[in-house]
Amino acid sequence: MNKDFKHIEKYAEEYNIPIMEKSGIRFLTKYIEQNKIKNILEIGSAIGYSAILMASSNQETMVTTIERDETRYIEALKNIKEFGLEKRITLILGDALDLDIKDKYDLIFIDAAKGQYTKFFKKYSNNLKDDGVIITDKINNSIYFLMRNLRQLVDKIKRYITFLNENTSFNTRFYKVGDGISVSKLKCE
Ligand code: SAM
Repeated sequence: MNKDFKHIEKYAEEYNIPIMEKSGIRFLTKYIEQNKIKNILEIGSAIGYSAILMASSNQETMVTTIERDETRYIEALKNIKEFGLEKRITLILGDALDLDIKDKYDLIFIDAAKGQYTKFFKKYSNNLKDDGVIITDKINNSIYFLMRNLRQLVDKIKRYITFLNENTSFNTRFYKVGDGISVSKLKCE
């Protein structure tokens, strides 16, 4: 197996594809190892970087990942094959908000269109196992303040944070790692 991610990172930089920060991915893979996570659903594969790293963090982990951009999907397929992970990573081409996924997962990782986070969370909480967790990346608003014309996006992220804080079915903790990560654990009844 080729363990070198440099060419994927280089491709992401060259084509301006946002992939996870190193510290964020370290946090996520450690969480998967420590909690012996077996089944993951990822929303937003891009070119497969985080899916490959998550699948590599535990030999028993299976990842299903959704990407709506066809060019990125094709690149992700290529990268997954290169790492020999076709049997453990299922890549779906489509809009996550239109799909009807029936399976249940230990961990759902949201890393897609930032303005849609609340919609993803509401739709996919039905796919969570009883003791499952939803992790969201890039919720640190300060990265958006640096960009122009993104006031609306900043407001949507703020509303998502409020939604998480007020959600009585989940306990959410926020971590200042990478671009900001939230970990929402389903409360036991
Ligand atoms: N998780 C990836 C990683 O760290 O390697 C990065 C994902 S990138 C930040 C977000 C991706 O989500 C983009 O490639 C975008 O095309 C995809 N995306 C955005 N909205 C989506 C949707 N509704 N359904 C599926 N994919 C979506």
